[in-house]
This record gives sequence, structure tokens and C-alpha cells, in this order.
Amino acid sequence: MGHEVVEIDVAAGIVKALENATGTLSEEPFDQLLLGTGGRAIRPNIPGIDLPHVLVAHTLDDAQALHSIADARMGDDSWNVVVIGAGYIGLEMAEAFVTRGHRPVLVDLQDYPLPGLVPELGVLVKGCVEHSGVEFIGGTEVTAITPESVVCGDRELPADLVVISVGTAPCSELAAAAGIELGAGRAIAVDERMQTSAEGVFAAGDCATSRHLITGKQVFFPLGTNANKHARVAGINIGGGQARMPGVLGTAVTRYLELEIATTGLSLDQAQAAGIDACSEQISTLTKPGYMPDSSTAQVVLVAERGSGRVLGGQIVGGSGSAKRIDTIATAATASMSVAQLLDTDLAYAPPFSTVWDMVAVAARELLKKV
Ligand SMILES: Cc1cc2nc3c(=O)[nH]c(=O)nc-3n(C[C@H](O)[C@H](O)[C@H](O)COP(=O)(O)OP(=O)(O)OC[C@H]3O[C@@H](n4cnc5c(N)ncnc54)[C@H](O)[C@@H]3O)c2cc1C
Repeated sequence: MGHEVVEIDVAAGIVKALENATGTLSEEPFDQLLLGTGGRAIRPNIPGIDLPHVLVAHTLDDAQALHSIADARMGDDSWNVVVIGAGYIGLEMAEAFVTRGHRPVLVDLQDYPLPGLVPELGVLVKGCVEHSGVEFIGGTEVTAITPESVVCGDRELPADLVVISVGTAPCSELAAAAGIELGAGRAIAVDERMQTSAEGVFAAGDCATSRHLITGKQVFFPLGTNANKHARVAGINIGGGQARMPGVLGTAVTRYLELEIATTGLSLDQAQAAGIDACSEQISTLTKPGYMPDSSTAQVVLVAERGSGRVLGGQIVGGSGSAKRIDTIATAATASMSVAQLLDTDLAYAPPFSTVWDMVAVAARELLKKV
């Protein structure tokens, strides 16, 4: 039976919950409380946003609904779908429609898909998206949705279905109403123990903030990886143990058809904006030796602090097997390793897996000349 918590009384140590089926309000006392209210898909405030053919992709029910619609229209060339927002969810939505034989239009404010990706890699993703039959309209704001169309710039795109994927907002209203402090992105502000501004009240997951491992700043990164780590730390502390969240890097990975894409830590621009004297190098390499039949190309961008050589982040776009190499960069950044230490790391090699110099080591070798 579904219950919705509708109020938290921190001083009294009570949550009030409404039983959905009966409308009955009950009270639950607590000594310690974990808020894990998650996030919701942002619905931008534009005319037409509440029309019935405008959907989001946040829950499994949302996915099931989109799945049924897309399958029912399989092979119908007169059916048009517009995806608004080309972050990783928008990109994955576009891919899902393409694999069902549709040709969605993907619209984004940024010039390239996946905001945060450096333009040199963004252009590769854009090329792959367009090559698959998707029209990508970048640098354009959607200003209205009508029952038949999406209005953006000077274009009116026919649209029988509109999918909104412009980001996630934290469900933090309950906490705010209880007087608990909010932080980055209006997520619930937490300390390293995942405790909120209220003693004994913890928060974890998409409703909570994180601390950026490199800048030290509070950030809102709604990712499953962070949610799991948050929850582990909060759970240990609630159980009387001592655990701390060291911080996050925003490491993320996705795929568009054959193209793998991954990012971690800071880009050069982000590092410089954070006041770090940074440099970066981009290399083009192979995922495996060229004589292997499934070898493909990959681009790696590596960012480091000048002087110390500390690894700050990286991005990878390439063929099969390339994206999870980001974990090597994430590990180096987490351990504050220098580019020289990254280059010295004893990474494995055999032809089915990599070139003798792994792509991350090649990037480190080149960046070492600049740091
Ligand atoms: C389409 C999509 C793809 C994703 N892919 C990835 C990925 O590949 N990798 C990755 O790292 N992350 C991914 N994420 C993000 C990841 O799913 C989330 O970060 C993670 O699920 C957050 O977990 P959570 O427990 O904080 O929130 P949720 O899973 O949203 O759970 C929150 C729960 O709280 C309940 N709730 C809210 N308010 C109340 C209330 N007042 N009373 C009672 N219950 C309440 C909700 O009903 C919900 O069940 C993806 C997200 C989406 C939408």
C-alpha cells in the first residue's frame, strides 16, 4: 500500500504519512531519519508543456509508456517525435527511437549533444547522431509546444510525441518545509557524514548534494553511482558507525549506438573557471591494435594541473571498449595521482583488449610534455 510522507516535524521527531488508497494520515516517530526522496524530471515552463503528448523519461512507468507508443508506431513514417534536451537521457531516448525505425529530431540549447563534453568530442557525438538519421538542432531554445508541433528558433517541427529530457531536479520540498537547509541545485545540503542541517536527519541520493572532490565545492550530481555511495555512508552513520563521503567527480558513461562516451572530473574550462592553472591534451588512438578485426578509433582528453601534474579529469569518445577506460582516469583523479604516476601505472595489455600503450597512458605521455 503506497504511503506518501507529507510532513516532517524535526523538533518532535515525527513524520506524517498519507496512505494513498484510504487518505488516512498516520504519524511515525523517529530518532534518526533518512531522506531519500530522489529527483524528478524537470518540465521547463514553456507554453504547451502540460499537453498529453508531452512525456518525460524518469520512472520505469515513463519508460514503459514510451516503449509502448514507439513500438505501436514502428514503421509509421508519418509519425514524428521530438526529443528536447540532448544530455545522456535525451541521447539514450533518441537511440531508442532510432532502433525502432523512427527518425527523431533532437533539440538542445548547446551546439553539441552532452553538455560538458569539450566541443572537439561533442562534434563527434553530433556526427554519429546525425549519421543515424536523427536531425540535431543545436544552439536553439524551444519556446512553445502545440498539439501538433514544437516551436524552436524560426522552425516549427511537426511532433506527435514530445519527450522532455532537460535534467533532474531534487525532491527537496518536504525537507525545505521542515526548515532543513538546501544547497546546490536546491538539493538538501549535507555534510561529509550525509547529515543535513538537522541533527539526526540524513539525506542520500538525488535529493542530496555532494562535494566535488577537486574543487571542494558543493554540487548536485544526480547519478546512481553517487546515490549508492551516499546511502552506504548515511546507513553506516545511522547505524552508529563512522563513514564519510570523500567527494565525487561526476564520472558518467553512456553510448549512442556504436559510439561510447565517458567523462570524469573537470574539463580544461571548468578547471580554469575554478581558478586552477590547468592544461589538457587530446589524443587520437586505437582501442586495440589495428590488425584486430574489431579495432576502432578513440579520442581521449586528459586534464591536469600545471606544476604538480595532478590529474583533474578526462573525457573519452570512441568505439567498443573505450568508455570504461575513464575509470582509470577517475581512479587517478581520486588518488590525486600525477600524470607521471598515471603514465607509470602498470596497465594490462593483450591484443584483444588494448594497444600496448593503453589509450589513457598515451594521453598521459602526451600531456606530460605540457605539465
Ligand atoms: C532515464 C534515466 C537513466 C539513468 N541512467 C543512469 C546511469 O546509467 N548511471 C547512473 O549512475 N545514473 C543513472 N540515472 C540516475 C539514477 O537513476 C538516479 O541517480 C538514482 O536512481 C537515484 O536514486 P534515489 O534513490 O535517490 O531516487 P529514486 O530512485 O528516484 O527513489 C526515490 C523514491 O522516493 C519516493 N518518494 C519521493 N517522495 C516521497 C514522499 N514524500 N513519500 C514517500 N516516498 C517518496 C519516490 O516515489 C521514489 O520511489 C538515470 C536516471 C534516469 C531517469
